[in-house]
Amino acid sequence: MTGASADLVVAGAGPAGVFAAIRCRELAPAARVIVLERGREPLRKVLISGGGRCNVTNVRTDPRELAQFYPRGGRELMGPFTRFGPAETVAWFARRGVELRAQPDGRYFPVTDSSRTVVDALLRAAREAGVELRPGCGLRSAARAADGGFALETDAGPLRARALLLATGGGSGNAGWTAAADLGHTVAPPVPSLFTFRCRDPRLRDLAGIAFTDAEVRLAGAKPRRRGPLLVTHDGLSGPAVLLLSAWSARELHALDYRFDVLVDWIPAVTEAAVGEALAAARRDHPRRQVRTLAPVVLPQRLWESLVDGAALPDGRIWAELTRDEAATLVDDLKRTHFSIDGQSPFKEEFVTCGGVALREVDPRTFASRLVPGLYFAGELLDVDGVTGGFNFQGCWTTGWLAGSAAASYLSGD
Ligand SMILES: Cc1cc2nc3c(=O)[nH]c(=O)nc-3n(C[C@H](O)[C@H](O)[C@H](O)COP(=O)(O)OP(=O)(O)OC[C@H]3O[C@@H](n4cnc5c(N)ncnc54)[C@H](O)[C@@H]3O)c2cc1C
Repeated sequence: MTGASADLVVAGAGPAGVFAAIRCRELAPAARVIVLERGREPLRKVLISGGGRCNVTNVRTDPRELAQFYPRGGRELMGPFTRFGPAETVAWFARRGVELRAQPDGRYFPVTDSSRTVVDALLRAAREAGVELRPGCGLRSAARAADGGFALETDAGPLRARALLLATGGGSGNAGWTAAADLGHTVAPPVPSLFTFRCRDPRLRDLAGIAFTDAEVRLAGAKPRRRGPLLVTHDGLSGPAVLLLSAWSARELHALDYRFDVLVDWIPAVTEAAVGEALAAARRDHPRRQVRTLAPVVLPQRLWESLVDGAALPDGRIWAELTRDEAATLVDDLKRTHFSIDGQSPFKEEFVTCGGVALREVDPRTFASRLVPGLYFAGELLDVDGVTGGFNFQGCWTTGWLAGSAAASYLSGD
């Protein structure tokens, strides 16, 4: 390691760490800021994010509304969002020549539709600010030094720092969490968030590929439920409604080893009473039609056929002959199809970690440790995670900006 001391050492050259380092150097240009990166290249996740397009942030700017997109950390981020939220992110990138465009669903992407634009802008800003990036050099451990700073062990040898900012993300085997714990912080055990539900139910086999624009999924016997688009895949259930439920129930589902039951309401906009009336109308208006061939409410024909097959009606059952019990079963299935889930699969577009450095030990105005002076945190290493939509990167920009600002003040003795 050339030059074995720095004013600020940032561990992790992801979006949070790089953003924090830039901010710190811009406010404290005399400070030596080194960013350690275990991997060969910085910002690797930004490059692969959003299917290679990088969903940088979201159009939502009201902190209260934004908070609802964070299963963990939303409440604590409300204040920080008033200081550096999505509008500030858009302006920050615009000042560095990156124009962001919002899609109708509220997600912001660079107009180039290439994450490379975002990576290049961040690296250019880091270079111009005088941040020293050290790819291929990971942080191994951190301890407090007698002078009040930090004694670090890195892949390239020992390094001293006046201030330390941990931003090593949410990956497994994370030395950032070990360092935080060694320095006295509580780390909530990491478990996956944002995953799809694996299900081998034969009723789903024929439905693979169907997207439902509005469905509701809930955990059987429990309160959590989420409504939104639902996708049936070859592997089970996916789509926003499932991802949201996975995020909000991440810890609970992990504790169940991802074996649990869900109930799917395929037509949440139609009340149970209205479904009953629709069945009565079908019986009245089409008595000779086979039940299987005529869905009483608007829904994909393949789903209706699958539900009728699952209800095991006698072959060729016509509407006029549908018994009260059979009708009740069909209503039940439309509003509450029961599926047994036997595992989870990562959502390929984006997956994040629930868990990390406990927020109660971190000052949300500065993302400074409440326990150790000169220690800061940013990004997914914290017990903060959002759902899809650019909220995870926004969490990085917000925490990185505030932590970088506060580290600069600390170094300047303010
Ligand atoms: C496939 C995929 C697509 C995604 N797409 C989006 C999207 O479009 N929009 C969105 O908002 N979110 C997206 N996310 C989530 C987002 O990428 C993360 O929330 C975000 O990258 C977290 O940033 P971070 O800086 O905290 O950590 P990371 O991006 O994980 O960066 C941490 C860095 O620290 C390094 N590191 C780890 N240990 C050490 C060590 N000991 N010493 C030094 N360095 C270390 C790692 O190598 C890494 O480079 C996506 C995630 C995935 C997996």
